[in-house]
Amino acid sequence: MKEIEVRHCDVLVVGGGIAGIAIAERLAREANRQGKAIRILLVDEHEELGSVASGGLEGWYHTGTLYFHLPDSRTTVACVNGFSDLRRWYARDPLFNACENCNVLPAAADALGTSYDFSGPAKRWFIAPVEYFDEGGGAGRPADRPLRSRDAVMRTQQILVDLVNAATERGVQILTGCTLRTESIRRATDGALDAKAGVLVQGRRLIHVIAKQYVFALGRRLCERDFPQTAFETPVQIVKRASVMVVIEPAVCRRSFVRIDRHGDGGFNHIFHPWNPAHSAAGYSIVADSNALPLDTTDADCARTAMALIDKTQALFPDVFTNRRWIWYRCAKTEFPTNPGTQRGYSSWYGPRWRSATTGDRPRQSRPPNFVCVVPGKFSLFPSLAHQVYLELETRGTFKALPTGSAPKGHGAPVAVPRAEMLARSLQETDRRRIAV
Ligand SMILES: Cc1cc2nc3c(=O)[nH]c(=O)nc-3n(C[C@H](O)[C@H](O)[C@H](O)COP(=O)(O)OP(=O)(O)OC[C@H]3O[C@@H](n4cnc5c(N)ncnc54)[C@H](O)[C@@H]3O)c2cc1C
Repeated sequence: MKEIEVRHCDVLVVGGGIAGIAIAERLAREANRQGKAIRILLVDEHEELGSVASGGLEGWYHTGTLYFHLPDSRTTVACVNGFSDLRRWYARDPLFNACENCNVLPAAADALGTSYDFSGPAKRWFIAPVEYFDEGGGAGRPADRPLRSRDAVMRTQQILVDLVNAATERGVQILTGCTLRTESIRRATDGALDAKAGVLVQGRRLIHVIAKQYVFALGRRLCERDFPQTAFETPVQIVKRASVMVVIEPAVCRRSFVRIDRHGDGGFNHIFHPWNPAHSAAGYSIVADSNALPLDTTDADCARTAMALIDKTQALFPDVFTNRRWIWYRCAKTEFPTNPGTQRGYSSWYGPRWRSATTGDRPRQSRPPNFVCVVPGKFSLFPSLAHQVYLELETRGTFKALPTGSAPKGHGAPVAVPRAEMLARSLQETDRRRIAV
């Protein structure tokens, strides 16, 4: 007979990408602010946290500029709100353990009303700025006059590490290499999850977690076949596309910029990641454009897309390739259209909500729901995602039911090195080996 360990907690967060980590940290912080002890368990199926989408991105912190031209303003609004939540709940919250690392600083207001920027000597989370060049601005070289924006380059691993440390300081327990058996998720007739919802497998161990609230932050797995999405009545549909990015080492340029081309194929992003942000002389480049290929695209076709990116880079920086090595990688880009197939949009989280955000009315169920499914859409939106989930669980009475006191320190877990950085380091290694030969 198989033994099943049973654990009880207040909140089970499944998924240790930026979404799950930011939510766990924020809930623990708010419990601490209210003088309550909360038992939070965060689990991820990989041995290292942040090893899926949250470790594969370009690292571009979006404040909304890129989306101004979309007919639907929701993405821009989400980014603007995200920036304000970042300032309020991370840079300026004295209860956030790593607030000094979030280098968003007040600056003199300029004609655009910009009164915050990502300066500061430490540059722990952000390296400013990502400059914009519109199609009207010439060849798109960084020497042209850029449009102003507050976008910045994120140091995603540092953000994840700081959030994990802050969460474990406040008692969050983390289990890695631990997979939620999605077939264990069922909804009872009253709309809540039934008691078998949290069956986890860690190696040969079976753990049954009985939680008061479940947070599913599974990234793209939320919309995959094995997750019973229909049972959750989730209005979101994730359109998955393969996307190709190229890592070049050493970097072709020390500025990060995007060239917007709304008519042709001239769009191009260059993100510079310095090895050491305090002395930003050396680093690697990530170059991309808005390429989106069918998910089953062959490696040969991805390689062709990578070559096209290299051609664009060479057109902008004709003389730089003599000493450089490059490598491409593919990721599944996930987008969340409001009208499937027609419109591109991003959601910061989705249902179910206990009270209507606009009217404050409660739904008809006799008791609040006991789960939340989340998709941030963008790494950049984590401050709003965490804030909204906290508000929702507060409304459901989660904090009211907690005992007073503070949770003991939890256990940390390693955070993955971003994929682009690993590839750039492997290029350096190859060079070293070649020299040694
Ligand atoms: C190519 C690309 C470029 C991008 N560039 C940017 C960018 O520049 N800026 C930006 O802001 N955003 C960018 N994004 C978007 C951003 O990466 C994602 O929106 C964000 O990282 C998603 O975070 P998440 O926590 O929801 O998902 P993930 O990071 O995928 O985390 C989900 C976690 O759930 C775990 N999990 C899944 N199923 C189970 C299970 N059954 N049991 C236990 N654990 C499970 C996984 O192991 C994973 O760690 C980019 C995305 C892609 C693909």
